[in-house]
Amino acid sequence: MVFVSGPSGVGKSTICRRLACDLPAEFAVSATTRAGKPQDALGKKYLFISEAEFKQRLENNEFLEYANVFGHWYGTLKQPVVESLAAGKMVLLEIDVQGGSQIHRMFPEAVGIFIMPPAEKDLIARLQSRGRDDAAAIQRRVAEAAAEVKAACESGAYRFMVVNQVLVEAIEDIKRFVAAVRQPPNPLRQL
Ligand code: 5GP
Repeated sequence: MVFVSGPSGVGKSTICRRLACDLPAEFAVSATTRAGKPQDALGKKYLFISEAEFKQRLENNEFLEYANVFGHWYGTLKQPVVESLAAGKMVLLEIDVQGGSQIHRMFPEAVGIFIMPPAEKDLIARLQSRGRDDAAAIQRRVAEAAAEVKAACESGAYRFMVVNQVLVEAIEDIKRFVAAVRQPPNPLRQL
């Protein structure tokens, strides 16, 4: 199980889409109370539900982890993850730091990866070019990014932190790290 977190606008979705293809890994399905967007057709899989349904599923213990992010509820559905793992597939979770911390506590062997923004001015430029947020929302997301980096460092849930300066390099670094974790070097090979 690999879980990837990082502030909004850091390139996390693009990185996760490539990782899902290249590792390869199955995207975990999340239920969320936020409304769907056109770009949701790509990458991470969402099930869009009402707050009442989210609450019901929470009571039914259907989530592996859950959190409130930017005022909406998000939770990784347990069943598809269990099925993928049982089929021997690697599972990829794209979740926030609160969720990452829960996963780390439950599955200490899961691999936590945190994507860092290159610099504040680059993060602002990326959010502006994405065209989804107005100036006030961009300011809020920049402040949230700083808080998320701090929370990720303090959580101890992330074994690998990579700065997304050059996208292809960040992806290759993560792939190399995941491969190394899956197949730790055999010291006997050096004898
Ligand atoms: P977005 O709405 O932009 O797709 O996601 C907003 C934030 O929620 C991102 O940081 C994303 O990683 C996080 N997120 C998405 N799905 C889940 C989930 O199932 N659990 C948790 N904890 N966070 C999630």
